[in-house]
Amino acid sequence: NCKEVKDALVEALKKHDFDEQVLVHETGCIGACDLGPSLLIEPGNTYYIKLEPEDMETIVMEHIIGGKIVQEKCYFNKDTNQYIHKMNKIPFFEKQKKIVLANCGEIDFSSIDAYIARGGYVAMENVLKDMHPKEVYQEVKDSGLRGRGGGGFLTGLKWEFAARSKSDVKYVICNADEGDPGAFMDRSLLEGDPHAVIEGMVIAGYAIGASKGYVYVRAEYPIAVERLDAAIEKARAYGLLAEDIMGSGFSFDIEIRIGAGAFVCGEETALMNSIEGRRGEPRQKPPFPSDKGLFNQPSIINNVETFGNIPPIMRHGAKWFTGFGTEKSTGTKVFALAGAINNTGIVEVPMGITLGDIVYDIGGGVKNDKKFKAAQTGGPSGGCLTSSCLNTPVDYDSLKTKGAIMGSGGLIVMDEDNCMVDVARFFMEFVQEESCGKCVPCRLGTKRMLEILERITKGEGEEGDIEKLIELGESIKETALCGLGQTAPNPVLSTIREFREEYEEHIRDKK
Ligand code: SF4
Repeated sequence: NCKEVKDALVEALKKHDFDEQVLVHETGCIGACDLGPSLLIEPGNTYYIKLEPEDMETIVMEHIIGGKIVQEKCYFNKDTNQYIHKMNKIPFFEKQKKIVLANCGEIDFSSIDAYIARGGYVAMENVLKDMHPKEVYQEVKDSGLRGRGGGGFLTGLKWEFAARSKSDVKYVICNADEGDPGAFMDRSLLEGDPHAVIEGMVIAGYAIGASKGYVYVRAEYPIAVERLDAAIEKARAYGLLAEDIMGSGFSFDIEIRIGAGAFVCGEETALMNSIEGRRGEPRQKPPFPSDKGLFNQPSIINNVETFGNIPPIMRHGAKWFTGFGTEKSTGTKVFALAGAINNTGIVEVPMGITLGDIVYDIGGGVKNDKKFKAAQTGGPSGGCLTSSCLNTPVDYDSLKTKGAIMGSGGLIVMDEDNCMVDVARFFMEFVQEESCGKCVPCRLGTKRMLEILERITKGEGEEGDIEKLIELGESIKETALCGLGQTAPNPVLSTIREFREEYEEHIRDKK
């Protein structure tokens, strides 16, 4: 539908001989899924929503040529009964802070010139010309940036470990194997601003002494692959991925590898096996990738959002970055809002914002005026946050104290009608299916847990089932080989902790 709206706009401009005065750009996702297809007209920051191709004639005639804003299709605020013309005054955008997604929905994703015009590749030039690799990873360390893929490990420290490993060959890997149900943050960034990821990877390569990078993208993201591929080609044509980039003596190039859709390949060592052409199974750690990673060489692996943070950090400095977020969780975090929430979509918020602000101010509250019951962060590895957590700051450490995790950024809202045992069963079914089967606790333990959850939800639960779930869950967490298994019981354990009465009710009301 977006394509049809764009074609109709181009057509209407042509018809009125205005096609030379107005530039029409197709951009990546602006985040507001429920409001599309949308159109932003600059200057003026006027935002038209829910467009149909037939609206274009009126917008061209009245707004672009006539200078009058066509109110009916601008954003309407039902609380104040007013039309809002400034996009940045819309509640969905107002409380957001866009650092990583600053270009998404604003620039033509296919234009390297548009990226450069917004300050793109300036950070890379400064780094290559004026900084020693040590200074680069120190700056990233000082920024406090933590891995946005879920682990929350200090990015600069990870880079330092790899930089200190002695080897002539090292690798930079970008993990774009985003597999959590309901999560599409990395996809949005790759589709909307692929050059930011490329620039971040080149800077990382310089910091650790690597001249080759891989982006591992899931096959389910064909548009992201196509746009990233085109961006890599453009960067090569501009000499930004080349031998001796800008006369610095530093060489770097990037290759894309497409994953076949296994969730476990999001785990760093399984991902590296997959790039090497081997079965996507996790490896024992240590050795860690910074010592022996891809092809047994020192490597760093960060996700798309983490790399997207690097150019702004290096452009504006670590101190600027620490001005956003909290002391131990600096910067922003991108979330995919999904579930029973009015404004679904992609949002970027400063760390430390409360869960309530995300759900109510940005997300527009729970659908159909229902009561908020819980939010699941971290997908199948995470936990649920109940209404008592609405004032909890969303940062790595505060979420941990509430039994949840930041995860990669999936945030699914549940309302009063959702059964939390069903939610736990859904995630357990997912991980059971995705378990690679290499180790017994995960292969069999998750199967047993799923069997118990299925019988409880079918009304065939037995006394003692809750205790069995807890016992199995705790032992899988302690003994599974990789992160997938170690976190698989989290949704079950956290829903038992917060909503035990729902489990008991199912068992009590047994058929
Ligand atoms: Fe495979 Fe699960 Fe063991 Fe990880 S924990 S290695 S996914 S079986």
